[in-house]
Amino acid sequence: MRVGQPNYSITINSFPVSLLVFFLVSSLSFVDGAFAIVTSLQDTDSFGAATIVKGSRLPQQDSSQLKPPIRLVSKDQRSEFDGKRSFGYLADVCKIGPRPSASKGMEKQKKYIQTHFESIGGQFFQQEFIAQSPYSGKNVKLHNLLIRWHPERTRRILICCHHDTRPFADADKRNPRAKFIGANDGGSGVALLCELGHHIESLDGVYGIDFVFFDGEEFVIQRPRDRMFLGSTFFAEQYSRGIPKWRYECAVLVDMVADKDLQLPLEGNSLHFARGLTEEIWDVAREIGVKEFVPEEFKFIRDDHLPLNEIAKIPTCDIIDFNFPNPVAGNIYWHTREDKLENCSAESLGKVGAVVLAWLQKRQRAKK
Ligand SMILES: [Zn+2]
Repeated sequence: MRVGQPNYSITINSFPVSLLVFFLVSSLSFVDGAFAIVTSLQDTDSFGAATIVKGSRLPQQDSSQLKPPIRLVSKDQRSEFDGKRSFGYLADVCKIGPRPSASKGMEKQKKYIQTHFESIGGQFFQQEFIAQSPYSGKNVKLHNLLIRWHPERTRRILICCHHDTRPFADADKRNPRAKFIGANDGGSGVALLCELGHHIESLDGVYGIDFVFFDGEEFVIQRPRDRMFLGSTFFAEQYSRGIPKWRYECAVLVDMVADKDLQLPLEGNSLHFARGLTEEIWDVAREIGVKEFVPEEFKFIRDDHLPLNEIAKIPTCDIIDFNFPNPVAGNIYWHTREDKLENCSAESLGKVGAVVLAWLQKRQRAKK
Protein backbone atom coordinates (compact mmCIF):
# COMPACT_ATOMS: atom_id res chain seq x y z
CA MET A 1 0.00 0.00 0.00
CA ARG A 2 0.99 3.61 -0.17
CA VAL A 3 0.22 6.70 1.78
CA GLY A 4 -1.56 9.36 -0.14
CA GLN A 5 -4.16 12.03 -0.17
CA PRO A 6 -7.86 11.24 -0.08
CA ASN A 7 -8.76 9.37 -3.20
CA TYR A 8 -12.15 10.49 -4.40
CA SER A 9 -12.03 9.20 -7.92
CA ILE A 10 -11.10 5.92 -9.52
CA THR A 11 -7.53 6.70 -10.29
CA ILE A 12 -5.81 3.46 -9.50
CA ASN A 13 -5.71 0.83 -12.13
CA SER A 14 -8.65 2.43 -13.83
CA PHE A 15 -8.10 0.45 -16.99
CA PRO A 16 -11.53 -0.62 -18.19
CA VAL A 17 -11.47 -4.33 -17.55
CA SER A 18 -14.93 -4.58 -19.06
CA LEU A 19 -13.40 -3.84 -22.42
CA LEU A 20 -10.77 -6.47 -21.88
CA VAL A 21 -13.22 -9.23 -21.17
CA PHE A 22 -14.38 -8.80 -24.73
CA PHE A 23 -11.02 -10.01 -25.93
CA LEU A 24 -11.20 -13.16 -23.92
CA VAL A 25 -13.68 -14.74 -26.23
CA SER A 26 -11.32 -14.90 -29.13
CA SER A 27 -7.92 -15.28 -27.53
CA LEU A 28 -5.56 -13.93 -24.96
CA SER A 29 -5.12 -10.70 -26.80
CA PHE A 30 -2.98 -8.13 -25.15
CA VAL A 31 -3.77 -4.48 -25.52
CA ASP A 32 -1.57 -1.52 -24.74
CA GLY A 33 -0.09 -2.75 -21.51
CA ALA A 34 -3.44 -3.90 -20.27
CA PHE A 35 -3.16 -5.81 -17.06
CA ALA A 36 -6.03 -8.21 -16.89
CA ILE A 37 -8.01 -10.50 -19.07
CA VAL A 38 -10.31 -13.25 -17.86
CA THR A 39 -8.82 -16.58 -18.72
CA SER A 40 -10.68 -19.12 -16.66
CA LEU A 41 -12.59 -21.42 -18.94
CA GLN A 42 -12.53 -24.86 -17.37
CA ASP A 43 -14.43 -26.32 -14.45
CA THR A 44 -15.97 -22.99 -13.69
CA ASP A 45 -18.25 -21.85 -10.96
CA SER A 46 -19.59 -18.42 -10.29
CA PHE A 47 -18.22 -16.36 -7.48
CA GLY A 48 -20.27 -13.23 -7.31
CA ALA A 49 -19.96 -11.88 -10.79
CA ALA A 50 -16.61 -13.44 -11.38
CA THR A 51 -15.83 -16.43 -13.50
CA ILE A 52 -13.38 -18.54 -11.67
CA VAL A 53 -11.45 -21.74 -11.91
CA LYS A 54 -12.30 -24.23 -9.25
CA GLY A 55 -9.10 -25.40 -7.68
CA SER A 56 -8.06 -28.98 -7.88
CA ARG A 57 -8.14 -30.94 -4.67
CA LEU A 58 -4.97 -31.55 -2.73
CA PRO A 59 -4.42 -34.14 -0.01
CA GLN A 60 -6.11 -33.11 3.21
CA GLN A 61 -3.95 -31.70 5.94
CA ASP A 62 -3.67 -33.92 8.97
CA SER A 63 -5.69 -32.04 11.58
CA SER A 64 -3.73 -33.70 14.38
CA GLN A 65 -0.78 -31.54 13.33
CA LEU A 66 -2.73 -28.43 14.34
CA LYS A 67 -2.22 -27.25 17.88
CA PRO A 68 -5.25 -26.83 20.11
CA PRO A 69 -6.65 -23.29 20.39
CA ILE A 70 -5.56 -21.10 23.27
CA ARG A 71 -8.04 -18.57 24.56
CA LEU A 72 -6.55 -15.09 24.22
CA VAL A 73 -9.48 -12.87 25.09
CA SER A 74 -12.25 -12.93 27.64
CA LYS A 75 -14.67 -15.81 27.26
CA ASP A 76 -17.57 -13.37 27.53
CA GLN A 77 -16.59 -11.92 24.19
CA ARG A 78 -16.68 -15.36 22.60
CA SER A 79 -13.63 -14.84 20.41
CA GLU A 80 -11.17 -17.67 20.75
CA PHE A 81 -8.77 -16.51 18.09
CA ASP A 82 -5.42 -18.16 18.72
CA GLY A 83 -2.56 -15.73 18.18
CA LYS A 84 0.09 -18.40 18.73
CA ARG A 85 -1.33 -20.70 16.12
CA SER A 86 -1.65 -17.74 13.75
CA PHE A 87 2.02 -16.96 14.35
CA GLY A 88 2.81 -20.59 13.48
CA TYR A 89 1.20 -20.04 10.09
CA LEU A 90 3.26 -16.88 9.70
CA ALA A 91 6.45 -18.82 10.44
CA ASP A 92 5.43 -21.41 7.84
CA VAL A 93 4.88 -18.91 5.03
CA CYS A 94 8.06 -17.00 5.88
CA LYS A 95 9.97 -20.27 5.67
CA ILE A 96 8.88 -20.53 2.05
CA GLY A 97 10.91 -17.38 1.35
CA PRO A 98 9.92 -14.48 -0.93
CA ARG A 99 6.42 -14.87 -2.41
CA PRO A 100 6.05 -12.26 -5.13
CA SER A 101 3.36 -12.64 -7.80
CA ALA A 102 3.95 -15.39 -10.36
CA SER A 103 6.89 -16.87 -8.42
CA LYS A 104 7.64 -20.37 -7.17
CA GLY A 105 7.35 -19.10 -3.63
CA MET A 106 3.87 -17.84 -4.30
CA GLU A 107 2.91 -21.15 -5.87
CA LYS A 108 4.06 -22.98 -2.74
CA GLN A 109 2.13 -20.61 -0.53
CA LYS A 110 -0.96 -21.04 -2.70
CA LYS A 111 -0.84 -24.79 -2.17
CA TYR A 112 -0.33 -24.24 1.54
CA ILE A 113 -3.42 -22.00 1.68
CA GLN A 114 -5.53 -24.42 -0.34
CA THR A 115 -4.52 -27.45 1.73
CA HIS A 116 -5.09 -25.59 4.96
CA PHE A 117 -8.55 -24.25 4.19
CA GLU A 118 -9.82 -27.44 2.62
CA SER A 119 -8.74 -29.29 5.75
CA ILE A 120 -10.90 -27.01 7.91
CA GLY A 121 -14.04 -27.05 5.80
CA GLY A 122 -13.67 -24.05 3.49
CA GLN A 123 -14.36 -24.24 -0.23
CA PHE A 124 -11.33 -23.17 -2.25
CA PHE A 125 -11.52 -21.37 -5.58
CA GLN A 126 -9.14 -19.31 -7.58
CA GLN A 127 -9.87 -16.38 -9.82
CA GLU A 128 -7.28 -16.21 -12.56
CA PHE A 129 -6.25 -13.21 -14.59
CA ILE A 130 -3.34 -12.10 -16.71
CA ALA A 131 -0.92 -9.32 -15.89
CA GLN A 132 2.20 -7.97 -17.47
CA SER A 133 5.28 -8.98 -15.53
CA PRO A 134 7.26 -5.94 -14.43
CA TYR A 135 10.43 -8.04 -14.90
CA SER A 136 10.01 -9.24 -18.45
CA GLY A 137 7.05 -7.37 -19.84
CA LYS A 138 5.53 -10.75 -20.69
CA ASN A 139 2.08 -11.94 -19.68
CA VAL A 140 1.87 -14.00 -16.53
CA LYS A 141 -1.04 -15.62 -14.72
CA LEU A 142 -2.05 -14.17 -11.38
CA HIS A 143 -4.58 -15.60 -8.94
CA ASN A 144 -6.92 -14.27 -6.33
CA LEU A 145 -7.64 -17.08 -3.89
CA LEU A 146 -11.17 -17.41 -2.59
CA ILE A 147 -12.39 -19.35 0.42
CA ARG A 148 -16.11 -19.67 0.96
CA TRP A 149 -18.20 -20.81 3.90
CA HIS A 150 -21.97 -21.30 4.04
CA PRO A 151 -22.52 -20.67 0.33
CA GLU A 152 -26.29 -20.83 0.79
CA ARG A 153 -26.31 -17.56 2.72
CA THR A 154 -27.03 -14.69 0.33
CA ARG A 155 -26.01 -11.90 2.68
CA ARG A 156 -22.24 -12.03 2.81
CA ILE A 157 -19.19 -10.45 4.41
CA LEU A 158 -15.75 -10.39 2.84
CA ILE A 159 -12.52 -10.66 4.84
CA CYS A 160 -9.40 -10.07 2.77
CA CYS A 161 -5.66 -9.53 2.56
CA HIS A 162 -2.98 -9.74 -0.11
CA HIS A 163 -0.90 -12.90 -0.54
CA ASP A 164 1.88 -11.52 -2.73
CA THR A 165 5.02 -9.94 -1.34
CA ARG A 166 7.06 -7.09 -2.78
CA PRO A 167 9.52 -8.35 -5.45
CA PHE A 168 12.51 -6.74 -3.65
CA ALA A 169 13.26 -4.96 -0.40
CA ASP A 170 13.31 -1.77 -2.45
CA ALA A 171 13.16 0.62 0.50
CA ASP A 172 16.24 -1.00 2.02
CA LYS A 173 18.93 1.68 2.04
CA ARG A 174 21.84 -0.74 1.99
CA ASN A 175 20.52 -3.20 -0.54
CA PRO A 176 17.33 -2.27 -2.41
CA ARG A 177 17.60 -5.45 -4.49
CA ALA A 178 17.70 -7.71 -1.44
CA LYS A 179 15.24 -10.58 -0.96
CA PHE A 180 12.06 -9.43 0.68
CA ILE A 181 10.38 -11.82 3.11
CA GLY A 182 7.31 -9.72 3.87
CA ALA A 183 6.49 -11.25 7.24
CA ASN A 184 4.33 -8.28 8.16
CA ASP A 185 3.54 -6.89 4.72
CA GLY A 186 1.89 -9.87 3.06
CA GLY A 187 2.54 -12.69 5.53
CA SER A 188 0.56 -11.29 8.44
CA GLY A 189 -2.71 -11.11 6.52
CA VAL A 190 -2.32 -14.68 5.32
CA ALA A 191 -1.48 -15.89 8.84
CA LEU A 192 -4.42 -14.07 10.37
CA LEU A 193 -6.89 -15.51 7.88
CA CYS A 194 -5.44 -19.03 8.28
CA GLU A 195 -6.29 -18.88 11.98
CA LEU A 196 -9.59 -17.05 11.53
CA GLY A 197 -10.70 -19.84 9.22
CA HIS A 198 -10.93 -22.23 12.19
CA HIS A 199 -13.81 -20.18 13.59
CA ILE A 200 -16.00 -19.58 10.56
CA GLU A 201 -17.73 -22.92 9.98
CA SER A 202 -19.35 -22.73 13.41
CA LEU A 203 -20.30 -19.07 13.09
CA ASP A 204 -24.08 -19.14 13.23
CA GLY A 205 -26.06 -16.23 11.90
CA VAL A 206 -27.41 -14.64 8.80
CA TYR A 207 -24.11 -13.91 7.10
CA GLY A 208 -21.99 -16.16 4.97
CA ILE A 209 -18.29 -15.34 5.01
CA ASP A 210 -15.81 -15.28 2.14
CA PHE A 211 -12.07 -14.81 2.43
CA VAL A 212 -10.16 -13.41 -0.52
CA PHE A 213 -6.38 -13.35 -0.85
CA PHE A 214 -5.54 -10.76 -3.48
CA ASP A 215 -2.65 -11.24 -5.87
CA GLY A 216 -0.71 -8.36 -7.40
CA GLU A 217 -1.11 -5.91 -4.55
CA GLU A 218 2.45 -4.84 -5.14
CA PHE A 219 3.75 -6.55 -8.26
CA VAL A 220 5.87 -3.48 -8.61
CA ILE A 221 9.47 -2.87 -9.52
CA GLN A 222 9.32 0.60 -10.94
CA ARG A 223 6.86 3.23 -9.87
CA PRO A 224 4.78 4.75 -11.35
CA ARG A 225 5.11 2.49 -14.38
CA ASP A 226 3.91 -0.61 -12.54
CA ARG A 227 0.41 -0.47 -11.19
CA MET A 228 -0.64 -1.70 -7.77
CA PHE A 229 -3.77 -3.49 -6.55
CA LEU A 230 -4.15 -5.66 -9.65
CA GLY A 231 -6.00 -8.50 -7.94
CA SER A 232 -8.41 -6.39 -5.91
CA THR A 233 -9.14 -4.24 -8.95
CA PHE A 234 -9.89 -7.29 -11.06
CA PHE A 235 -12.05 -8.78 -8.33
CA ALA A 236 -13.95 -5.50 -7.89
CA GLU A 237 -14.50 -5.08 -11.64
CA GLN A 238 -15.83 -8.60 -11.98
CA TYR A 239 -18.11 -8.22 -8.99
CA SER A 240 -19.50 -4.87 -10.12
CA ARG A 241 -20.21 -6.01 -13.67
CA GLY A 242 -22.33 -9.05 -12.92
CA ILE A 243 -25.62 -9.90 -11.31
CA PRO A 244 -24.50 -12.07 -8.43
CA LYS A 245 -26.79 -14.26 -6.40
CA TRP A 246 -25.57 -12.48 -3.30
CA ARG A 247 -24.15 -9.18 -2.19
CA TYR A 248 -21.25 -8.35 0.03
CA GLU A 249 -22.65 -6.02 2.65
CA CYS A 250 -19.20 -5.01 3.81
CA ALA A 251 -15.56 -6.04 3.77
CA VAL A 252 -12.60 -5.92 6.11
CA LEU A 253 -9.03 -5.78 4.82
CA VAL A 254 -6.09 -6.65 7.07
CA ASP A 255 -2.55 -5.62 6.17
CA MET A 256 0.62 -5.24 8.29
CA VAL A 257 -1.05 -6.54 11.43
CA ALA A 258 1.78 -8.52 13.06
CA ASP A 259 4.08 -5.65 14.07
CA LYS A 260 5.42 -6.32 17.57
CA ASP A 261 4.64 -2.74 18.50
CA LEU A 262 1.04 -2.70 17.35
CA GLN A 263 -0.68 0.66 16.85
CA LEU A 264 -3.86 0.82 14.79
CA PRO A 265 -5.26 4.30 14.32
CA LEU A 266 -8.32 4.82 12.12
CA GLU A 267 -7.33 4.94 8.47
CA GLY A 268 -8.56 7.92 6.43
CA ASN A 269 -9.97 6.23 3.35
CA SER A 270 -11.80 3.70 5.54
CA LEU A 271 -13.50 6.54 7.38
CA HIS A 272 -14.27 8.31 4.13
CA PHE A 273 -15.86 5.30 2.42
CA ALA A 274 -17.04 3.14 5.31
CA ARG A 275 -17.27 5.23 8.45
CA GLY A 276 -20.03 3.22 10.13
CA LEU A 277 -18.25 -0.09 9.63
CA THR A 278 -14.89 1.30 10.69
CA GLU A 279 -16.27 2.80 13.88
CA GLU A 280 -18.12 -0.44 14.60
CA ILE A 281 -14.84 -2.37 14.51
CA TRP A 282 -12.95 0.09 16.70
CA ASP A 283 -15.91 0.03 19.12
CA VAL A 284 -15.61 -3.76 19.37
CA ALA A 285 -11.89 -3.37 20.07
CA ARG A 286 -12.70 -1.00 22.94
CA GLU A 287 -15.36 -3.38 24.26
CA ILE A 288 -12.94 -6.30 24.43
CA GLY A 289 -10.08 -4.16 25.70
CA VAL A 290 -7.73 -4.13 22.72
CA LYS A 291 -6.35 -0.66 23.21
CA GLU A 292 -4.00 -0.87 20.23
CA PHE A 293 -7.00 0.06 18.09
CA VAL A 294 -6.53 3.79 18.65
CA PRO A 295 -9.67 5.82 17.91
CA GLU A 296 -7.79 8.63 16.22
CA GLU A 297 -7.69 9.36 12.55
CA PHE A 298 -4.43 8.63 10.76
CA LYS A 299 -3.17 9.07 7.22
CA PHE A 300 -4.99 8.12 4.07
CA ILE A 301 -3.53 4.79 2.96
CA ARG A 302 -3.86 3.48 -0.57
CA ASP A 303 -4.46 -0.23 -0.32
CA ASP A 304 -6.67 -3.01 -1.67
CA HIS A 305 -9.70 -1.47 0.02
CA LEU A 306 -9.83 1.32 -2.58
CA PRO A 307 -10.99 -0.83 -5.53
CA LEU A 308 -13.51 -2.55 -3.26
CA ASN A 309 -14.91 0.78 -2.11
CA GLU A 310 -14.68 2.69 -5.37
CA ILE A 311 -15.35 0.07 -8.04
CA ALA A 312 -17.32 -2.65 -6.27
CA LYS A 313 -19.06 -0.18 -3.92
CA ILE A 314 -18.54 -2.57 -1.01
CA PRO A 315 -17.99 -0.53 2.18
CA THR A 316 -14.51 -1.70 3.15
CA CYS A 317 -12.34 -0.91 6.14
CA ASP A 318 -8.56 -1.32 6.19
CA ILE A 319 -7.02 -2.46 9.46
CA ILE A 320 -3.37 -1.50 9.02
CA ASP A 321 -0.42 -0.57 11.21
CA PHE A 322 1.50 1.71 8.93
CA ASN A 323 4.24 2.54 11.42
CA PHE A 324 6.55 -0.44 11.39
CA PRO A 325 8.11 -0.69 13.97
CA ASN A 326 6.44 2.27 15.74
CA PRO A 327 5.38 5.91 15.43
CA VAL A 328 8.58 7.20 17.07
CA ALA A 329 10.98 5.39 14.73
CA GLY A 330 8.57 5.75 11.83
CA ASN A 331 7.81 3.23 9.14
CA ILE A 332 11.47 2.31 8.67
CA TYR A 333 11.02 -1.47 8.39
CA TRP A 334 8.49 -1.20 5.58
CA HIS A 335 9.75 -2.78 2.33
CA THR A 336 13.15 -3.53 3.87
CA ARG A 337 14.95 -6.63 5.09
CA GLU A 338 13.67 -5.80 8.57
CA ASP A 339 10.20 -6.96 7.59
CA LYS A 340 10.94 -10.40 9.05
CA LEU A 341 9.46 -12.84 11.53
CA GLU A 342 11.58 -11.57 14.41
CA ASN A 343 9.89 -8.19 14.18
CA CYS A 344 6.41 -9.70 14.35
CA SER A 345 4.52 -11.20 17.26
CA ALA A 346 1.83 -13.72 18.10
CA GLU A 347 0.31 -11.21 20.53
CA SER A 348 -0.31 -8.66 17.80
CA LEU A 349 -1.84 -11.22 15.47
CA GLY A 350 -3.91 -12.45 18.40
CA LYS A 351 -5.23 -9.00 19.20
CA VAL A 352 -6.20 -8.08 15.65
CA GLY A 353 -7.69 -11.52 15.04
CA ALA A 354 -9.67 -11.35 18.28
CA VAL A 355 -11.18 -8.01 17.24
CA VAL A 356 -12.10 -9.22 13.76
CA LEU A 357 -13.63 -12.42 15.11
CA ALA A 358 -15.48 -10.66 17.95
CA TRP A 359 -16.82 -8.17 15.41
CA LEU A 360 -18.03 -11.01 13.17
CA GLN A 361 -19.68 -12.73 16.13
CA LYS A 362 -21.36 -9.52 17.22
CA ARG A 363 -22.56 -8.76 13.72
CA GLN A 364 -24.04 -12.25 13.38
CA ARG A 365 -25.89 -11.83 16.68
CA ALA A 366 -27.13 -8.33 15.92
CA LYS A 367 -28.46 -8.84 12.41
CA LYS A 368 -30.40 -12.06 12.83
ZN1 LIG B 1 3.90 -3.37 0.70
